[in-house]
Amino acid sequence: MKQGCIFCNIAHGIMESVTLFENLEFRVILDKFPAAKGHVLILPKEHIEDIYELDAETAGKIFALATIVAKAMREVLACEGLNVLQNNGEVAGQTVHHFHLHLIPRFEQDHINISWPIQELSDDDLETIGQAISKQI
Ligand code: 5GP
Ligand code: ZN
Repeated sequence: MKQGCIFCNIAHGIMESVTLFENLEFRVILDKFPAAKGHVLILPKEHIEDIYELDAETAGKIFALATIVAKAMREVLACEGLNVLQNNGEVAGQTVHHFHLHLIPRFEQDHINISWPIQELSDDDLETIGQAISKQI
């Protein structure tokens, strides 16, 4: 647990949250400033800052939990779609530096905008960057 970390405090039940589920490793809560009614966050109880600190086993468990929560959300909210979102670094929109997965229910005309301008990249550029990353995996 990291001193002063808001999600450590919430995950350990020191700060209040609307909790949907909890076990030894995770807490599933409602986002207090949601993009939509029923916007869910999945938090590990351990202070993991971002995806780079997340081990593969914990990542697997978080996503397994997300599949269950997503189905419950679809059932209850009757959402037509759902975004799974996870931000790393301020430039990517991370405001709380304790790993969390967003589950955002989506509806027609909900005015949520998750989009980006398409970059013009040549086949050569695609090949070069693809190979460079591939070598590091
Ligand atoms: P990020 O921008 O880091 O990906 O997401 C942080 C999320 O945490 C935001 O969607 C924000 O609304 C939510 N949030 C910030 N403070 C609190 C809080 O005190 N309680 C809850 N439940 N959510 C919070
Ligand atoms: Zn934390």
